[in-house]
Amino acid sequence: MIIKLNNLNYIYNSGNPFEKKALDNVNLEIKEGDFIGLIGHTGSGKSTMVQHLNGLMKPTTGQIIVDGIDITQKDANLKEVRQKVGLVFQYPEHQLFEETIYKDIAFGPKNLGLSDEEIHIRVKNSMELVGLDFEYLKDRSPFELSGGQKRRVAIAGVIAMKPKVLVLDEPTAGLDPRGRDEILGEIQKLYEKEGITIVLVSHSMEDVAKLVNRIVVMHRGRVAMDDETREVFKRAEELEKLGLGVPQITRFMKHFKEKGNDIRDDILTVEEA
Ligand code: ADP
Repeated sequence: MIIKLNNLNYIYNSGNPFEKKALDNVNLEIKEGDFIGLIGHTGSGKSTMVQHLNGLMKPTTGQIIVDGIDITQKDANLKEVRQKVGLVFQYPEHQLFEETIYKDIAFGPKNLGLSDEEIHIRVKNSMELVGLDFEYLKDRSPFELSGGQKRRVAIAGVIAMKPKVLVLDEPTAGLDPRGRDEILGEIQKLYEKEGITIVLVSHSMEDVAKLVNRIVVMHRGRVAMDDETREVFKRAEELEKLGLGVPQITRFMKHFKEKGNDIRDDILTVEEA
């Protein structure tokens, strides 16, 4: 077990008229090697939840264990936790700020106090892992790049910290279909090559369905479903109630059936009617 959330609650603006319960008794276990799709409507609590995974947000109540450390304890070493759990925010390219791509990616490793040689290796490797040409791009400004490429630089900066778990919050938001497919392809490769544990946050079934092996569905701050991808797809009626896009579900159930998975024919027929 790499991350465990126990009875997690989070309330924004506690005690004032804008009070909002964003996480409602969330229990979740993330195991080493998991590739999880965290899905749910806008406002269901996904971003709030993932910001708890590396100690960026402190729960109102509940406990978070990361790699054996209870990070909700006062004396927890949060620096170490942030290195173990790399979080790629929404629109991460907004956080690029260095004059060269190399410096931007090197920023985190430098803060770890690593040698120049080790930093060089990490920058090069992480650029290669996200499909960026090291020699061609290292001395360029990140601001010369396309939206999709900038995002890769930002992801490379997190990978360069060598996290055990990589959490990506809506990594395809605002990209065109090509940029979206490219980023998702890079994420899949990363999982296959590096064996890193991944949590991919998305409001789109379509994005996650083809990649992940486990789906966690959030609804109104709660975990509404948590199962293997194909098991979640079998529960089409519940997904429909959660407003998660029936036509897409039909399409992907077909996809899974074609791959020989045990999807009920009656569900497919009903969905198509
Ligand atoms: P998601 O990532 O699934 O879109 P969020 O975690 O961003 O969901 O939001 C969960 C709930 O918390 C929503 O109702 C949202 O309006 C509320 N919320 C999120 N951020 C804040 C904030 N900074 N202040 C107050 N309420 C917030």
